[in-house]
Amino acid sequence: MTVLLGVDLGGSSTKVVLQHGSTVRDQRVLPGRLSADGLPGLAAALRDAAGGDEIAGVGVTVPGILDETTGVVRRSVNLPWLDGRDVAAEVSALVGAPAVAMHDGRAAALAEAVLGAGRGTRDVYVLTLGTGVAGAHVVDGSARPGAHGAAGEIGHVSLDPEGLPCGCGQRGCLETVVGAPSLLRRWQQRTGRTGGAVSAISDAADAGDPDARAVLDEAGAALATALLGLVAVLDPGLVVLGGGVGESGVLRARVEAGLRARATFHVVPPVVPAGLGRWAGARGAALAAGRVAVAG
Ligand SMILES: [Zn+2]
Repeated sequence: MTVLLGVDLGGSSTKVVLQHGSTVRDQRVLPGRLSADGLPGLAAALRDAAGGDEIAGVGVTVPGILDETTGVVRRSVNLPWLDGRDVAAEVSALVGAPAVAMHDGRAAALAEAVLGAGRGTRDVYVLTLGTGVAGAHVVDGSARPGAHGAAGEIGHVSLDPEGLPCGCGQRGCLETVVGAPSLLRRWQQRTGRTGGAVSAISDAADAGDPDARAVLDEAGAALATALLGLVAVLDPGLVVLGGGVGESGVLRARVEAGLRARATFHVVPPVVPAGLGRWAGARGAALAAGRVAVAG
């Protein structure tokens, strides 16, 4: 029997999913951040996960920008040792199977669009809310990388040139309103509570807390503004909202209401929660692996 492996390289752990065809047989979390000399160890872990089965293909996500035609990583903030390396070629040589590398957010979006919340829809936009805000347009099972591998930075669409400064150097980016640090800051300003995670805000909002609802109302309005522009440009059939706070029912309702209230010529798509959770990146990598796999 042959197996496909999807590897999600993260800043704090590496996730591995093992599939027979499209059926998930095993999921493993390898703790710790992969280091510059960690690829042989990763390859050994992959062979161990495969047991005696032949590895037909490996997909690897990269937390950063890579040239998807050459596979060379341009820049990874979380794993800087990857810069300038062709991680797929290195993994392929170590494992002895075809391998392909993919931007992590685009891999997760591909999985959501094909296997998760977007299953059955040809044209899907996946928006992931976390510390940053990323998006990916998936059409007919292909996540569009853009001409330079840099598509998807919807978090850095500026909604207000006079707004708060953003880490990217602009002002008033979507991320300065709906990124996790911004949501937590607004929550603290209203309630005096410090620390915590954005999941506490979405849980409180879902339970009817007025401060949490106000924070998500503001975020939802900003998201609706950004998405209305996106709908005008791309006309997606479905929008998937994922990430920590993206699955909040309150936020999603506010986004849909904002879109419907302001749409004129637009066809407003359904806005649905992501379905694959934290395994989406690895599942997307396994999908990509299937496309480069040797037949067997
Ligand atoms: Zn920005």
